[in-house]
Amino acid sequence: MHPLCPVAGPILAPVDERIDLHTHSHHSDGVLPPAALVELAAARGVSLLALTDHDTVAGCAEARAAGEKLGVRCIAGIELSCGWRGQSIHVVGLGVEEGHAGIDAWHRAMLARRRERIREIGERLERKAKLPGREIAQGLLEREGVPTRLHFAQALLERGLIGETQEAFDRWLNGGGAGHVPTEWPALAEGLALLRESARAIVLAHPHRYRLSGGALRQLCADFREDGGHALEVSLAGLSQGDSERLATLALRAGLEGSAASDFHDPATPWRPLGRFAKLPAGIAPVTDRLRGA
Ligand code: AMP
Ligand code: MN
Ligand code: MN
Ligand code: MN
Repeated sequence: MHPLCPVAGPILAPVDERIDLHTHSHHSDGVLPPAALVELAAARGVSLLALTDHDTVAGCAEARAAGEKLGVRCIAGIELSCGWRGQSIHVVGLGVEEGHAGIDAWHRAMLARRRERIREIGERLERKAKLPGREIAQGLLEREGVPTRLHFAQALLERGLIGETQEAFDRWLNGGGAGHVPTEWPALAEGLALLRESARAIVLAHPHRYRLSGGALRQLCADFREDGGHALEVSLAGLSQGDSERLATLALRAGLEGSAASDFHDPATPWRPLGRFAKLPAGIAPVTDRLRGA
């Protein structure tokens, strides 16, 4: 421990490069192809970008190729959906080995599970909410990539059945809604075991978005760290410097590093802009140190 700073690990200079370590392409629920995402990143001055689609690394090679042309260092990443105490928890792997057999097996299993879930959501919305759920599900299952509930929300929006995607979650897709399908994701420990062998850095995504008490969130961080997790997303699009500082305190107390990310999906969502968020608070070690040479 450094004598001037009560934080385990080295003291690091503030990150002066603009980074974004959690983004989506059309290989899951983002709207842009990977190359277009990288172009946008370049235009916004992002020099280190991780593509972290839900349960797939399919877009990472395209992102890297685009990044080489545009001077954006692109890191292969993935966002895993896991279960912890009955909650869905998202874990981001960074510097992922793309051909890893375990990653491939995870992708195939999750794709099958998610496709079945989309079908079931469609059935329920058709029967219980009299919405064109079957037709929407059919359309979603014809497209390539990993289908998520956000696609369902977007389809409802395109048909003018809702005013914004959030409404679909509030009215139908979240717990208690007609289209809610309880889903058991692989246990957090299982996702972490996979990333320990296939990724350089393991990050707990958007900790402020889980519906957990303060104590439960601290326990989640402790369990995450215990099973090999490295960092917490601390600087996030839409959060103030104060919010980020509270997350940094949570990370520091759990012995975790910090990550900075937008969770960008769509240029039409101005409150989650690519590459724009509060600075990583002083005293927290940036997870980027694990990505040298990735
Ligand atoms: P899924 O992984 O299929 O459960 O879909 C969840 C995805 O929907 C997330 O990754 C977000 O991109 C998006 N989303 C947007 N708004 C919400 C919300 N209110 N609740 C849950 N997910 C949301
Ligand atoms: Mn998403
Ligand atoms: Mn997420
Ligand atoms: Mn995400």
